[in-house]
Amino acid sequence: MANDAELKKIEQENQRLAQLCSMKSEMVSLNAHQIKTSLSAQKWIIKMFLDGDLGALTPEQENLMQKAYESNDRAIELVSDMLADNKKEELAEKKFEFSPVDLSELIDSVKFDFSGEAYSHGVEMIFLHPEEDIPPVDADKEKMRMVLQNLLDNAIKYSGNHGKVFITLSKKDDQVQVSVKDTGVGISPEGQKHIFEKFYRDPEAEKKEITGSGIGLFTAKNVVERHGGKIWFESRPEAGTTFFFTIPIRQKGGVA
Ligand code: ADP
Repeated sequence: MANDAELKKIEQENQRLAQLCSMKSEMVSLNAHQIKTSLSAQKWIIKMFLDGDLGALTPEQENLMQKAYESNDRAIELVSDMLADNKKEELAEKKFEFSPVDLSELIDSVKFDFSGEAYSHGVEMIFLHPEEDIPPVDADKEKMRMVLQNLLDNAIKYSGNHGKVFITLSKKDDQVQVSVKDTGVGISPEGQKHIFEKFYRDPEAEKKEITGSGIGLFTAKNVVERHGGKIWFESRPEAGTTFFFTIPIRQKGGVA
């Protein structure tokens, strides 16, 4: 058994590590922002060439510039993902603040935020509003938002063109259940065993060159379980995926 002095030392060490982690994540975020600014400046210059603002290009020059443009676009997407993941990790580490949350309203708000993304992927999002009144749940609103963002982002990203995403919300006894169904690429049988592991990406997703980092579902599971809920999925390759999660309406011991 550790004595008081040893416990105090471990606690101090933990605090120092938490501080270092937070400094590291701030540094990652700062560097990623700087890289993104520089990549965006390059994009602007390449676009000027492609638009012929600096004179006509030969077909060979145009072909190379187009490749540079696409590669720059991918790099910007990667850095943006990196920034988003960093934010997810920071948020998941923060203390949970519970208050009554109207999930129907939250779903509407997240769905609205993703309208542009869905449009650019040619994906239609449909929220099948519940017929009965769904009571507010005791939840950390910003962390719940992150879970919904992650599921919707994935559903759109892995849907492919002309896909459809259906969201449902229902009450089951003392729990509220949310589902996000897509008509996309599905998850391979091997992938299904590992999907909630940190940094895991289904090789099928990699083959299709869909960018991602494998942090989102790991964080979503962590957040749902910290609410006393469950998260799971049903999926068939090339036939789409449905993610489900439940949240107890009341946290044990009431709202903090
Ligand atoms: P990311 O999407 O950034 O890679 P996630 O943790 O959100 O990270 O997802 C982990 C992996 O699970 C993804 O790389 C992908 O292979 C798979 N996946 C998640 N959601 C879906 C979905 N709706 N359809 C197909 N595959 C999915």
